[in-house]
Amino acid sequence: MEVRTRFAPSPTGYMHLGNLRSALYTYLFAKANGGKFILRIEDTDQSRYVPGAVDVIYRTLKSIGMQWDEGPDIGGDYGPYVQSERKNMYLPYAEQLVKAGKAYYCFCTEEELAARREEAQKRGETFKYDKHCLHLSEEEVRRRLEAGEPYVIRQNVPEHGEASFDDVLYGHIAVDCADLDDMILIKADGMPTYNFANVIDDHTMGITHVMRGNEYLSSTPKYNLLYDAFGWEKPTYIHMTPIMRDATHKLSKRDGDAYFEDYLNKGYLKEAIVNYVALLGWNPGDEREFFTMDELIKAFSVEGMSKSPAIFDVNKLTWMNAEYVRRLTPEQFTEYALPYYEKAGVGAEHADLLARILQQRTETFAQIPDMLDFIPQLPDYDAELFTNKKSKTNPEIAKHVLKIAIAALDALPAWEEQPIHDALLGLAEKEGMKNGTMLWPVRIALAGKQVTPGGAIEIAILLGREESMRRLKIGLDKLNA
Ligand code: GLU
Repeated sequence: MEVRTRFAPSPTGYMHLGNLRSALYTYLFAKANGGKFILRIEDTDQSRYVPGAVDVIYRTLKSIGMQWDEGPDIGGDYGPYVQSERKNMYLPYAEQLVKAGKAYYCFCTEEELAARREEAQKRGETFKYDKHCLHLSEEEVRRRLEAGEPYVIRQNVPEHGEASFDDVLYGHIAVDCADLDDMILIKADGMPTYNFANVIDDHTMGITHVMRGNEYLSSTPKYNLLYDAFGWEKPTYIHMTPIMRDATHKLSKRDGDAYFEDYLNKGYLKEAIVNYVALLGWNPGDEREFFTMDELIKAFSVEGMSKSPAIFDVNKLTWMNAEYVRRLTPEQFTEYALPYYEKAGVGAEHADLLARILQQRTETFAQIPDMLDFIPQLPDYDAELFTNKKSKTNPEIAKHVLKIAIAALDALPAWEEQPIHDALLGLAEKEGMKNGTMLWPVRIALAGKQVTPGGAIEIAILLGREESMRRLKIGLDKLNA
């Protein structure tokens, strides 16, 4: 039997990390088993539809290399793959259930339902549909349908007994039918509900394994009643734990930092995000932590999936991202860093040098503008910065150093790393100073701050001759003042 899994997002907004992980596990399971990964867009709830959301789904899955085998844009043997385009397929199935006594037409209006809900509340009961319309005579139903009265179709859940299913992770899940509501299958606008459409679609698309969030765990017994009513074989169910913000809260859209593209914008690498998300709720059974997509496919198995929810830890993601950044070639690093150089107001003509001084210390690319903030503009700094014990300098020594450094650098024919290096270290030797005693004041004068990526010589190159000389003189003036 060929494994067929589906990712079935509702286009209601951006791609949340929880959605991304559902898609990832579903994809990995299909690929690890030589099966097909199907993309289905679940847009039956038109009121929650967000324009552009489908594009975000395509873009996200594609960018991380999760190519679907069948889907809205590429078609396949089981299309269409958008529920609203399948609209006309559902009613006949619902009518088939009505004929079999497993579903019924319901004409109760919103107002009637609201009144009954209120009465139930007064009695301290939770309202569940009271099967009022199940008891209408066949003739009355026909008359009201012919008169064009609005209706929905509801599932006829048995009043007694148990509905159950077996989940691969959670085991046997059983619910008492008395607790189940006669859920709506077809809405008044003719659209199916998610509850109905997912069953019809999974069956008619030949889905063998349904993987989805565990918020559907308690509804799945109801879905299985529908499979039984049709006499269809049920798929294998694998419900997945949510990603948590902390021990008690799900990572939610409201947290504002739950979207995949937000992390891209914050300068995380997609490979690192995917790697980290893969490990939120799954482990390979050994100590490995770094995985490419191909390695994930090879390593993935349902046995490694966890039943207890994973807590999202942005520090761990950042650590992992820093590892990924370190493993880039300098050319790749530059490619990712370019937009951030631009943000920092730093030209890319020294990209090789920038990669050399930044790559090892970049955890996320968004840190780059801060790390380079002293390049476009010299910060306002205090002469006290010239004091440094380890480098054996103080304002007095710094004054002397800057004076001779300015003279030596002024005389250089070329503004390049080697001659600058030779000039400054040559001076240190001549003066009998530690190299640090020479370089510290120069770097402070050039950068106006103590912590900088790169040393005095690299910063001099980044600034260029003119700006470097100007800043060295400002430093000297400060010390003379
Ligand atoms: N459309 C549902 C959602 O986005 C998917 C549920 C399922 O996979 O069956 O939550």
